[in-house]
Amino acid sequence: MSASIIDGKKISQHMREKIENKVMTLKNSGVTPGLAVVLVGDNQASKTYVSMKQKACEKHSIYSTLIRLDEEISEQGLLDKVIELNNDSAIHGILVQLPLPSHIDETKVIETIDPSKDVDGFHPINAGRLMTGGDGFVPCTPYGIIEMLKYENIELAGAHAVIVGRSNIVGKPMGQLLLKEHATVTYCHSKTKDLACHTKQADIIIAAVGIRELITKEHIKEGAVVIDVGMNRDDEGKLCGDVDFQGCSSKAQAITPVPGGVGPMTITMLLANTVKSAEKHSL
Ligand code: NAD
Repeated sequence: MSASIIDGKKISQHMREKIENKVMTLKNSGVTPGLAVVLVGDNQASKTYVSMKQKACEKHSIYSTLIRLDEEISEQGLLDKVIELNNDSAIHGILVQLPLPSHIDETKVIETIDPSKDVDGFHPINAGRLMTGGDGFVPCTPYGIIEMLKYENIELAGAHAVIVGRSNIVGKPMGQLLLKEHATVTYCHSKTKDLACHTKQADIIIAAVGIRELITKEHIKEGAVVIDVGMNRDDEGKLCGDVDFQGCSSKAQAITPVPGGVGPMTITMLLANTVKSAEKHSL
């Protein structure tokens, strides 16, 4: 079997057309969706992500502003900035780029963001809403993956989904979203004994770990759907995922590449969340 490639760029483009229509409708009623991105310090990877997010906003006529703060800013200084953005009516989405310097408590910062502007979906109120079936913001990466699976008409109800990774931003919310779609969900993580024994049972595998080629063809069953969230660098510095793409392609039914799979969807869902917030705030 040779897997079909799930093209994140194509699906993302399809979703962005819908987002663009919503932006136009909002603009016609006098509302421009606005996103504030807060970047603390000089982390090169963070700067790249922030710039990609801003470019996407610009391309789709969403107002975005970048607030750059010095690495040495105090925790209170950052919290004050977040509060200022909470009170700014031109801003519908607030994103504080992680990681933050070690002297700042990330949890405190996330919990200071107004949940109604928390377009990253990291606030405990939004995490709770996801868990209890309420209408909140869903973290962009798992949100993008679920949209991808639906776009590809992959049967979720009754499917066994194995998620490798249990972070608050990817693994855990991914499981909640799949549960909502009636999948049977198994979580694996760093303390899981015999990872392959679990992943081999999976109809759908979501690899969100950050270890290059952790998932090989020995980890998957014939006909599985393999979603690779990982963003790692190979020896030449090229972007690669958590999955041995070549090996798994020979066995899987469908697979996402890195780059060009989950990554483009993540940014698109940030735009979707910002527009959703603007719609809610303009009611
Ligand atoms: P994280 O470091 O917060 O979590 C990693 C998880 O992997 C942990 O839950 C840990 O228990 C688990 N783990 C570690 N070693 C393991 C092992 N040997 N076997 C099984 N599980 C193991 O990472 P994260 O923020 O969830 O991100 C995971 C990966 O996804 C990273 O490569 C990150 O860069 C990438 N990522 C990509 C996007 C995107 O848009 N494509 C978005 C977010 C994260």
